[in-house]
Amino acid sequence: MVEKDYDVIVAGGGMAGLTTAASIAHFSNQRFRILVVDRNTPDLAGRKTGSGWICGDAVSKNSLDYLAQNTGITFEKPELEHEVEGVLVYSPDHKTKVLFEGRGFVINRKLFPQKQVEHARKRGVEFAFGVSLEKLLAENGWITGVTGRGPGGSVFKKTASLVIDSTGSASLLRTNLPIPSKIERELNRDDLESTGRYIYEFERGEDDLSYFDPRYAIIHLDQYLAPGGYCWTFPKGENKVNIGLGVQKRALDRRNEKSGSKSVLNELIDTYVASNKSIKNPRLSTSPDDAGNQKGNWQVPVRRPNDCMVANGYAVVGDAAWMPRPIDAGGIGPALYGSVILGRVVADALEAHDTSEDRLWKYNVEYMHHYGYQMASFEVLRTYLQTLSNDDISYGMRYFLSEEDISLITHRKHPRFRNVDLLNPVNLVRVVERSGLARGLKYTSDKSERLIQHNLAYPESSAGFESWHKILLAELHEAQVKFGLT
Ligand SMILES: Cc1cc2nc3c(=O)[nH]c(=O)nc-3n(C[C@H](O)[C@H](O)[C@H](O)COP(=O)(O)OP(=O)(O)OC[C@H]3O[C@@H](n4cnc5c(N)ncnc54)[C@H](O)[C@@H]3O)c2cc1C
Repeated sequence: MVEKDYDVIVAGGGMAGLTTAASIAHFSNQRFRILVVDRNTPDLAGRKTGSGWICGDAVSKNSLDYLAQNTGITFEKPELEHEVEGVLVYSPDHKTKVLFEGRGFVINRKLFPQKQVEHARKRGVEFAFGVSLEKLLAENGWITGVTGRGPGGSVFKKTASLVIDSTGSASLLRTNLPIPSKIERELNRDDLESTGRYIYEFERGEDDLSYFDPRYAIIHLDQYLAPGGYCWTFPKGENKVNIGLGVQKRALDRRNEKSGSKSVLNELIDTYVASNKSIKNPRLSTSPDDAGNQKGNWQVPVRRPNDCMVANGYAVVGDAAWMPRPIDAGGIGPALYGSVILGRVVADALEAHDTSEDRLWKYNVEYMHHYGYQMASFEVLRTYLQTLSNDDISYGMRYFLSEEDISLITHRKHPRFRNVDLLNPVNLVRVVERSGLARGLKYTSDKSERLIQHNLAYPESSAGFESWHKILLAELHEAQVKFGLT
């Protein structure tokens, strides 16, 4: 057998790649050679694009606790820049606010990977910075390594028993996967959000906590300003904010056509910032910790994760695996959970000298059971919400969203929408008044029950995948037809 350069090559050293590398090292007691390859120089570790580490920067304390409990990896200030008590969501008419309690942090995305690199190095992980990967190497139906260009255009070529693709949402490696596999290669355009944000320092304007509150990450729903997405104002201090929005292209096109306008993302973000009564004289952050990261646009996948995330000698994680939650595009939490689970499975696989699809399959199963099982149902809910008007969203939040639903969403579960239940006379008038909306919400709730049961029955081995997948796709297609989207 030809000796490989490494046991594992982690392609892309962002949130997911750095966590996966450190997790494999942790679970294997540093027995294997792990190389992280990233196109950035070490001082710019984790940078997503030339315009920065584009993110809303919000992560729940629960996700960081999960990482700490499983791997001993912890973070503190300054990378945990600002602590919040929860997320507050405002309806488009600004009359209803819903609080999702739960501590979290608005992190410094530039400093966070520096700390991650430090954690990984301490666990013996090696790094190749300044290398832009171009292709996966393949032999006899297995991935065997990577090639790309290093500093000065030099050829970079390394082999490994396993390549982990964590190159983010624009992964070329997954798109051009050169072996037969159950992994889907292409993302549907409707399942991608175009997003952008600023990191601003500002003076406090009107004292209106519905626009800026240093204790809460605020989300404003508005299908005119952020069609098919939402606007956010996430505090990074008393006078500092991460502010931006995301849109779905199809919903933006529809909105532009309806209003006879040609609005583009940056114009919408600027309009949103200008409409914020509590933020006066915003200017790009002058902190050295934000240098090169004050403004920028990027994309987030918002569907369920890839239905299969492994192949012979290959696994995919983080945005490259479409892990962000469909309902709020939060991808840091899923990347941390996914990376820890993958780290454990890979450590076992290397121990057994077996990095086949069959051996790595456990990662699919465990991620689905632990985190992923709710995501298809959130994809359906997201798809439905994207079809609603501002008026319907405001009405629904006011009358149809119950305390039980809020608690369920807080615990990453699908809302039941029992307030659209016709058996309750209090609801009757409202349900009749908004019968289409009530029926739509009920449909998403019923569908979620079926999708969750189906996902919890994810096949234990690759043999059962095809029939399981067929049923999943049929369920999702039915929802698309119901919402008039096919
Ligand atoms: C505007 C915006 C706001 C967001 N807000 C939030 C939020 O508030 N909370 C939240 O939880 N999530 C948020 N997300 C999602 C979150 O940022 C991502 O889910 C998370 O960064 C995914 O991490 P990742 O490691 O998978 O990918 P990335 O962070 O994209 O990292 C990929 C790494 O791979 C490197 N790379 C890529 N291609 C190559 C290549 N060919 N060769 C070598 N290296 C390569 C990149 O340079 C980078 O270092 C937001 C996303 C956006 C765009």
